[in-house]
Amino acid sequence: MTPEEFRTFGHAIVDWIADYRAGVATRPVMAQTAPGAVRAQLPTAPPQQPEPFENVLADLESVVVPGMTHWQHPQFYGYFPSNGTLASVLGDFASTGFGAIGLAWQASPALTEVEEVATDWLRQMTGLSDRWQGVIQDTASTSTLLALICARERATSYGLARGGLQGEPAPLVVYTSAYSHSSVDKAALLAGFGKDNIRHVACDTAYAMRADALADAIAADRAAGRVPCAVVATTGTTTTTALDPVQAIADVIAGTNLWLHVDAAMAGSAMVLPECRWMWAGVEAADSVVLNPHKWLGAAFDCTVYYVRDPEHLVRVMSTNPSYLQSSADGRVKNYRDWGIPLGRRFRALKLWFLIREQGVSGLQARLRRDLDNARWLTAQVAGTAGWRLLAPVPLQTICLRHEPPGLMDGALDTHTQAWCDRLNRSGQAYLTPAMLDGRWMVRVSIGAEQTERVHVERLWAAMQHEVTR
Ligand SMILES: *Cc1c(COP(=O)(O)O)cnc(C)c1O
Repeated sequence: MTPEEFRTFGHAIVDWIADYRAGVATRPVMAQTAPGAVRAQLPTAPPQQPEPFENVLADLESVVVPGMTHWQHPQFYGYFPSNGTLASVLGDFASTGFGAIGLAWQASPALTEVEEVATDWLRQMTGLSDRWQGVIQDTASTSTLLALICARERATSYGLARGGLQGEPAPLVVYTSAYSHSSVDKAALLAGFGKDNIRHVACDTAYAMRADALADAIAADRAAGRVPCAVVATTGTTTTTALDPVQAIADVIAGTNLWLHVDAAMAGSAMVLPECRWMWAGVEAADSVVLNPHKWLGAAFDCTVYYVRDPEHLVRVMSTNPSYLQSSADGRVKNYRDWGIPLGRRFRALKLWFLIREQGVSGLQARLRRDLDNARWLTAQVAGTAGWRLLAPVPLQTICLRHEPPGLMDGALDTHTQAWCDRLNRSGQAYLTPAMLDGRWMVRVSIGAEQTERVHVERLWAAMQHEVTR
């Protein structure tokens, strides 16, 4: 494809995306596709000869679109709001258009320096002090893995340079709550701690970690000769957006060598609102924090920011420094390859930088406040309507609810919950994700798609009330 052909088809794609976004509300939210149906429409072997690009674009509409669940639909309430703003999409285009890879500062100085600026802007926007430095990673999962590897290496005085974990005299232990994201356990397993050395600390009735139970668990491990190594606290858990008490947790481990990692992947976006910052009070005592601008803030996936208090430690753990990657500027610049696992890096900062500039802090704040307001409205409807129950506090934009008709219990209640949620999803009117809480099915309503206004939430509430009586 020549640059001139790219101009033609590129304009066509931009027009296509603009039409898609403008008309997305008219589509069924959830894909109405049977398993294998998309694959069945595509040739099993690649084309031997070049195809006209028009044909590719035509298949985007006819084959791909029907197999999509529309995350940018105003009636999308599944999982978490994500990935939405078009300014950020353009940042992603520009990044891909450069076709540059950040192997080192010298490999594209702007790639590093725009990232330094954009992550520092976000630091200021979320109220973190200037003791933090940020780096963009692909996902929160990767960032939590980095945090636990760094915790492991601090606890073992860089055991990786000797026998690694296999050379340690006593097992190292990681603490998190039973409601933390599955990526926390996965990171602990991949970092070599072993399942036996992951503690799921008990929670209170609001599904937040109990600091007293954490203290007990740490004391029990110490008494048994194990080495407490790291605590992962969550600000905004995945199921209910519960808030682990970061300050109380920091107090429990103050004066010890335990690493404190705060997983604010979802709720981190809310920290651009000063009125929400109490939710992670104590965060300044942490060693690392992760937040996902690619969630509610609206940056195009993938764009996770990982903040650390001690970049030198991170670099010491992650650096390899082969000679062909060294340059005369190395002492004066950041080489972000040493701030994470992959060597090659995309220019992800552009999509965050575009987003913040196009929206302004005030624009981002206004949208988040709109969503919080919509969540409070729906919460009030559910709380005030007979037969409906809220299952957890609603500090942010996720509402956990159940319709509980009189006399329906246990398995029958689960069947009812899954049935009405499935009917609603299959109707195409809205998309909700059911989840388990305390061993029972419930339904999560996660508000915050960019196009979701009050009228959409009102329609959702009407549709839910209709579906449960069918
Ligand atoms: C979404 C989420 C994750 C996982 O995020 P990825 O970026 O997809 O790895 C981890 N923790 C919390 C609290 C989340 O909300």
